[in-house]
Amino acid sequence: MEGGDEIVPILNRWIEAAQEKSVPVYASRDWHPRHHPSFEEQNGKWPPHCIQDSEQAKFHPDLRLPENAVKVTKGVRFDQDQNSVFDETGFVERLRDDGVERLWIGGLALDACVLATVLDARKAGYAVYLLQEGTRPVNADGGREALELMQEAGAEIVED
Ligand code: ZN
Repeated sequence: MEGGDEIVPILNRWIEAAQEKSVPVYASRDWHPRHHPSFEEQNGKWPPHCIQDSEQAKFHPDLRLPENAVKVTKGVRFDQDQNSVFDETGFVERLRDDGVERLWIGGLALDACVLATVLDARKAGYAVYLLQEGTRPVNADGGREALELMQEAGAEIVED
């Protein structure tokens, strides 16, 4: 994805800040079975990506995830895609256990999984801060629209 790598140092900065304040870090990943319903060959929207155990499914090698980062896996269902980290992943239960009330969210892609996650987070009542420099859209128009939808849903956009 264009500029996808550029977000890594930004996210590292936020991860470091979280660690300094002993704030938990959650890392979600697509982890698709082969022939996943989101793939074009199955009349889905996307080229094949993030196939389980493939190199491409790994977290970016430069992303400095702390040892105790909670990894959330999504996109494993055989019947439909899970764009949102809140979609039957156990994430919301984990947040509840951890006593989390506010979320700072970045990652890929702004107009797909990040959007779905931010909207679900707002529906679930979390205060949401979208890290604008720490995300990139699949396409620019989609990105602009995603930001508008997030703001309408009450998310705050953090610009730097
Ligand atoms: Zn996917």
